[in-house]
Amino acid sequence: MLGPDEFVINLLVEQGQITAEQVADANRNASSWRCSSPQALIRAKIITARDVAIGRAMVSEVPFVDLDNYEIDVQVASLLPRTLADKAVALPLFNVGDVTTVAMADPLDLGIVDRLRSVLRSDVVTVLAEPEQLRTAIERVYSLMGSRPMAREAAAEAAATASFTGRNVEQDPIVAAVNQIIGRAAEEGASDVHLSPDEAELCLRYRIDGILVGRQGPPLSNHPALVQRLKVMANLDLTQSRRPQDGKFRFPWNGRTLDVRVSIIPTVYGENVVLRLLSGSHGLRRIEDLGLHPVVAEEFSGLVHRAHGMLLATGPTGSGKTTTLYTALSELNSPERHCVTIEDPVEIRLPLVRHVQVNAEIGLTFATFLRAILRQDPDVILVGEIRDEETARIAIQAALTGHMVLSTLHTNDAPGAVARLMDFQCPAFAINAALTGVMGQRLARRVCTSCAVPMPPSPSLLKRFCAGDSTGQFRVGRGCPQCGGGGYRGRLGVYELMVMQPVIRAAVEKSASAALIRRIAIESGMNPMWADGTDKARMGLTTLEEIARIAAGMDLEDSAASLVTVGEAGRAAA
Ligand SMILES: [Zn+2]
Repeated sequence: MLGPDEFVINLLVEQGQITAEQVADANRNASSWRCSSPQALIRAKIITARDVAIGRAMVSEVPFVDLDNYEIDVQVASLLPRTLADKAVALPLFNVGDVTTVAMADPLDLGIVDRLRSVLRSDVVTVLAEPEQLRTAIERVYSLMGSRPMAREAAAEAAATASFTGRNVEQDPIVAAVNQIIGRAAEEGASDVHLSPDEAELCLRYRIDGILVGRQGPPLSNHPALVQRLKVMANLDLTQSRRPQDGKFRFPWNGRTLDVRVSIIPTVYGENVVLRLLSGSHGLRRIEDLGLHPVVAEEFSGLVHRAHGMLLATGPTGSGKTTTLYTALSELNSPERHCVTIEDPVEIRLPLVRHVQVNAEIGLTFATFLRAILRQDPDVILVGEIRDEETARIAIQAALTGHMVLSTLHTNDAPGAVARLMDFQCPAFAINAALTGVMGQRLARRVCTSCAVPMPPSPSLLKRFCAGDSTGQFRVGRGCPQCGGGGYRGRLGVYELMVMQPVIRAAVEKSASAALIRRIAIESGMNPMWADGTDKARMGLTTLEEIARIAAGMDLEDSAASLVTVGEAGRAAA
């Protein structure tokens, strides 16, 4: 009977990764080297440990996890006693409800899986990782537990030791100041924190809803210590203050974990720090929460759940494209699907998803990663952005060969995506066969609910966007402490979803202009972005002023021209 090693070897032969002769050699070497045949192949440098692990995952029918690209959650990992982790070569990765996902070198060892189940007191789902990576990760997790006060045992120990000498991390004023700065930023919903020293003071600013606002900062004299603390948190070089550095860390806040990216740049007055607060996977929304019109939400969900194809989000920087794509990705993420993201930089982390980061300086571009990843049998690929011909072509090819490809393009509106792909020399027939839909979007500021009052819009805006029709609950924020006096708090998405229908495909086939494709898309039911925004203003969620602001750059002439059509299409749909 064949053992798991033979199955793996047969698979590798079938895939053409090794030849029968190499297997015969390996079998001979295996007995003299006293190792398994796959190990003999690795030692002879015919294949890598990774190839074997991926093969093993396939024959075991469990997902493969690359731990090098996975941020280990020490709290979950440390639920397993070290002795068992070492013995089983296993590491818990994350925990959802009463199911723990555990990375193992040999997930088919059911005795060990049973043991894990009873020790973790939860059901266990296994994924497979390279044994070497697992051992390194286990080593790291338990050494971190030993040195960091956040580990439970160490914390209990510290609490028990009344005469805790030296720097008590919890009470250190610098630590407290940093925690307060980040905690307050999270509370106020800031996306970035700027800590900038100048001659006389330390300037602290938060970016809230896209706008920088000043806050009372710590004294300038604390600046070097604050920077040191942030460097410690982000694992940066403490001795280096003359070169830009960047890194990231995880910050526990209100029962959630925030991913914080740190960028430090030397200036004449000292090191300038920018922290970007990324929503961890907890902040992710479901499709219903994106604020799409129910009909559009249903269409979008339909596109996301297609077996393959390319789904794009378009808009300028800061229009919420990443959130839309990640919402789609988390909808698809499950242990049965191999999901990969290629980003620059990695913004949001999801359990089970492999995130890789582009580094153009060392030749790791979107295109090189995409090509490499396609050899690893992914189901879903999120490409942060399509910026060049090569990436566009490989992404389309991936969509045509049975993969689900999610990506963004920097274009003004949804129909513009087709024109951009053509600029990238993608042939019309390939675009038509691969592309399933494009979501165009912007973010509009949300009227502050604490100080909102009914207010009709100005006649000129009403004329421009609503054809003079003032029905609805138009509102503005008067300004209150909750919104810092600005009348807006938070943001909401304004969308247009172009579903690739036969009429649109026919236009693409004839190389129609972006404007014509837009017209046809609207005629066949796409509710344009500005109309979605106008609806949201009518509901009092935002204002026509905001829609006018974000409409800059949109083809308004075209929008105005199609006003009547849209109104009719809208009524017909309703
Ligand atoms: Zn307010």
